[in-house]
Amino acid sequence: MKEILLLKDGEIVLKGMNRRQFEDALKKNIRIALQPVGRFEITSAQSTICVRPLGEDVDFDEACDRVGRVFGIVSYSRAALCESKTMDAVMETAPVYLEKQLRAAKTFKVEAKRSDKKFPLKSPEICRELGGRLLGCFPHLRVDVHDPDVTVYVEIRDFGAYVHADPIRGAGGIPVGTGGKAAILISGGIDSPVAAYMMAKRGLRLTAIHFASPPYTSQRAEDKVVRLLQKVSLYTGPLKMITVPFTAIQEKLRDGCPEELFTIIMRRLMMEMSQRIARDYGCSALITGESLGQVASQTIGALNCTDEAADMVVFRPLIGMDKQEIINIAYKIDTYETSIEPYEDCCTVFTPRHPRTKPILKFVKEAQERANFAPLIEEALQNLKITPINPEI
Ligand code: ATP
Ligand code: MG
Repeated sequence: MKEILLLKDGEIVLKGMNRRQFEDALKKNIRIALQPVGRFEITSAQSTICVRPLGEDVDFDEACDRVGRVFGIVSYSRAALCESKTMDAVMETAPVYLEKQLRAAKTFKVEAKRSDKKFPLKSPEICRELGGRLLGCFPHLRVDVHDPDVTVYVEIRDFGAYVHADPIRGAGGIPVGTGGKAAILISGGIDSPVAAYMMAKRGLRLTAIHFASPPYTSQRAEDKVVRLLQKVSLYTGPLKMITVPFTAIQEKLRDGCPEELFTIIMRRLMMEMSQRIARDYGCSALITGESLGQVASQTIGALNCTDEAADMVVFRPLIGMDKQEIINIAYKIDTYETSIEPYEDCCTVFTPRHPRTKPILKFVKEAQERANFAPLIEEALQNLKITPINPEI
């Protein structure tokens, strides 16, 4: 049986962005998401996007999974295309295609949409005929028009007739790319992949920046970040990971700054360097996985000091969330198990015993200036490594 996907897109939340632009971006993202699965025809009509496989050997389960992670889709239905656009074909297809759902249900109803007005039966007639047929095929079923276990949808459209059961919830949000570009500061931890997911959901196209301090941090730690980003890229689409060589800067920090200010100065340096990289990659915002009060560098005082190092807007989507709430999303996007693999991050190298939770900006800046990081920053920015990230196949 030939199957297709019918997608309902979201609200156009951005003023000035018209439906056409929104839909074009969404279709492009769907095409990219489905590229590794096979060839598809993607069309839109009557506020529904239709995805049809071109060819027989397409893994349709995989296609549904991938479409379920594309932002901008409120819900999607997996539907069977009837052999012909006739009531006979509809009557034949529905009980076979929906057998599993109908056997598991106690009650059902039929809803028909007839956008092709040339179809000989009107919607109430389609419902009545198919309803009767399904009751004949599945005698345990009852009709309940108010609160059925399963709704059987029949849609008669220009290009054909198809049937499906209740739609599945999509990823929601806004199509990636329609909101601009931002750089996510990514560690190997639990939080930053979740932050990436949340901001991509608001329509941002991401570039990832990772600070590495070999040999204090290992190649395996960096590989773990690549694997995390591969998982995230199922939602964000392909992206670039920029690895910043941070060793010399951290050594200078250790040797030239007061211990209790290590963390705060390090965070400021990360922001300053990230902002420069972000600009070079056309990004106009930074994203971090910080959450208020989680650690010493995430107090109001510390965040004020950190923010001062960059003028670009910094998005912190996790700022008001509890760890458990963050973990729940990490589970949902399947990054949790990878995040808890025990590899070191540059933030855990040379950690002070007593970090300042209320750093005074003036002293922090003085200490930072005395150490003169400028030449090392320039050198690091000359030696960035770029790794293209694609969703795992
Ligand atoms: P995460 O779970 O994301 O590692 P965290 O709670 O461990 O976060 P920190 O280690 O203080 O918190 O880092 C706060 C934020 O700083 C991270 O969410 C991330 O955005 C950024 N960050 C931390 N380490 C790195 C790194 N090595 N490279 C790039 N960004 C980093
Ligand atoms: Mg971390």
